[in-house]
Amino acid sequence: MKRTHLARLIVTLALSLTAASCANMGRFTDIMNPEELSREELRKLPYETTPRYGFMVGVAPNAAPENGGLLEEIDFRFTAFSECFGITDEGKEASDYLIAVVHGTFTCVYHRGRCNGEYDPGNTLIIVSYKAFNRKGILPLLEHEWAHAYGILSSGHENLDEVKKCTRY
Ligand SMILES: [Zn+2]
Repeated sequence: MKRTHLARLIVTLALSLTAASCANMGRFTDIMNPEELSREELRKLPYETTPRYGFMVGVAPNAAPENGGLLEEIDFRFTAFSECFGITDEGKEASDYLIAVVHGTFTCVYHRGRCNGEYDPGNTLIIVSYKAFNRKGILPLLEHEWAHAYGILSSGHENLDEVKKCTRY
């Protein structure tokens, strides 16, 4: 009995230390626990369009801070993405998709059921987490999903190593 209690105490301590060291990454548990999303609901998100490329961007309630310059950031990132891959269509290929920004990790059919980005052509959605655990910056998987949309990155990720120089993840 005593050993079990001790083990439990150690586990609890270890967990609380882990959580504490991640405090600067935002709300650790919110980002880690996958959220169940309704693609249908995401499709209905009110959206704004980015000034340069006209990408539709819908933000799930409280997923991103307001007036955070998100639309400009997305344009800026697409310019860099295009230059890196030599894309010259001014975003046409990706412009049918609604970029749905969600809070954190969500459930999906890939990556053992936990995703921070998903290219969902069936629903014409590009779903991206605003922040992802252990990944830098905001919308860390956006370039990765654009690469899927452009057919540059294969759906099975066989060529991920080659495209990573332009997509980071
Ligand atoms: Zn992928």
